[in-house]
Amino acid sequence: MIKIIVTGGLGFIGSNFIRILLSNDDYSSVLNIDKITYAGNPENLYDLESDSRYNFLESDIGDAEKVENAIREFNPTFIVNFAAESHVDRSIDTPEPFIQTNVLGTLRLLESTKKFFNTLDEKSKNEFRFLHVSTDEVYGSLSASDPAFCETTSYSPNSPYSASKAGADHLVRAYFHTFGLPVLTTNCSNNYGPFQFPEKLIPLMILNGLEGKQLPIYGDGRNVRDWLHVEDHCKGILSVLNNGKIGETYCIGGDSEKTNLQVVDTICAALDNHCNENAPHKNLKDFVKDRPGHDQRYAINFSKIKNELGWQPKYSFEEGMEKTV
Ligand code: NAD
Repeated sequence: MIKIIVTGGLGFIGSNFIRILLSNDDYSSVLNIDKITYAGNPENLYDLESDSRYNFLESDIGDAEKVENAIREFNPTFIVNFAAESHVDRSIDTPEPFIQTNVLGTLRLLESTKKFFNTLDEKSKNEFRFLHVSTDEVYGSLSASDPAFCETTSYSPNSPYSASKAGADHLVRAYFHTFGLPVLTTNCSNNYGPFQFPEKLIPLMILNGLEGKQLPIYGDGRNVRDWLHVEDHCKGILSVLNNGKIGETYCIGGDSEKTNLQVVDTICAALDNHCNENAPHKNLKDFVKDRPGHDQRYAINFSKIKNELGWQPKYSFEEGMEKTV
């Protein structure tokens, strides 16, 4: 019976992850530590509040005293760190909170975890894992003909967001090499699915489309992203947590490279099927000034997690989008 701390569990991916944990009898207790920023929504888990296995602590991961006490009292087998400032556009407007949470917060969480880890007996030390959730954006941008990112791709972050995530990834790595903390890191592509905050492309397009508002598309809409259904991502994290090699990183991708325009067209078609009111929704498309430093293409080669751990995405993009809309 595994006890697990999830940070940032009121956000998009963290809340989906907690749902999966609590649908599985292997996890006896979950402690969600979340600061409840604008992106943290308690309603994402409203129906689980009465589950006795679910516990919540409102805290910044950077509040060392509070987090150290919580970790000691809860005595987890695993800690999974989702807590982050996660929106690239906000990092361009105001970079500092990204350094505070993604770099300094992760450092303090690692330090709190290390203190706890050092008090464990040998058996518990062998079982303990700290998994850090990161992004493919740390690898920079690809041209159309470049091979996809993989675990050995050099870091080359281009936005304050990706730079802060890269900083966190390096700290996680350092805590393995310097202090022997049993860490794992996952770098995944763009997620989509239920409970995503509507500042991100897919929920923004769905909600705007439903309300008959314009669908703003950066530049010419030809930037390419790989899309990973959040449920597939969470299952990938669990397979790394349970069977990954400590100190290693695993790239998790959705096998669904699409231009932003293709994504918006897919959403428009799905909206047309479900809601006549503003159809055809494609007439709402609006090309707006590009994001500064907008990375051209991200793509993920997920052979390592597939070959070593037997994980691969189950959702096709079309199926996942239909379900999301
Ligand atoms: P999100 O913005 O939806 O949620 C972030 C959560 O973290 C919120 O609940 C927020 O309240 C909490 N939080 C923020 N700062 C905190 C702090 N200092 N202390 C405690 N809690 C804090 O993010 P998401 O989309 O769910 O992403 C989760 C993780 O996955 C992030 O680390 C992100 O970098 C990474 N990631 C996301 C994507 C994606 O497509 N969404 C892709 C790759 C990687």
